Amino acid sequence: MNRMILVPIDISDTELTDRVIKHVEAEARIDDAEVHFLTVIPSLPYYASLGMAYTAELPAMDELKAESESRLKEIVSKFNIPEDRIHFHITEGSPKDKILAMAKSLPADLVIISSHRPDITTYLLGSNAAAVVRHAECSVLVVR
Ligand code: ADP
Repeated sequence: MNRMILVPIDISDTELTDRVIKHVEAEARIDDAEVHFLTVIPSLPYYASLGMAYTAELPAMDELKAESESRLKEIVSKFNIPEDRIHFHITEGSPKDKILAMAKSLPADLVIISSHRPDITTYLLGSNAAAVVRHAECSVLVVR
């Protein structure tokens, strides 16, 4: 089985992705690895916390998924990796839980993740990145 790399992408954050690209490209060249890009749509409690109390105000999940997928594909088009080794995954839920679940199920040999959003400087490791570093059973490359 080929080496498998999992790259979680927060589609709301473009700047962060740029820093990750060169690391992913370099790792993807080793043993012709398969690269799995994953974006997680935060589920309902997240929107509720923004004050959107009624489900009627929420866009349909199918719509959100389709939008997220095209945004993810747009971001991934910046990566120089052979197309037949790129895989896309869109799920809904808690980002950290879904990233860890996918790392386990692939199973991933390596997760490449950004440490945090560039505009948040108080913490050197965001909550999703921290959980992945702590709980993943495989190696994790944290890009700063
Ligand atoms: P911050 O709170 O500063 O955004 P995070 O730990 O949430 O820090 O984000 C760090 C990295 O975790 C992101 O660059 C991305 O790789 C991953 N990540 C965060 N949210 C998601 C998401 N919704 N889907 C996929 N990956 C995510």
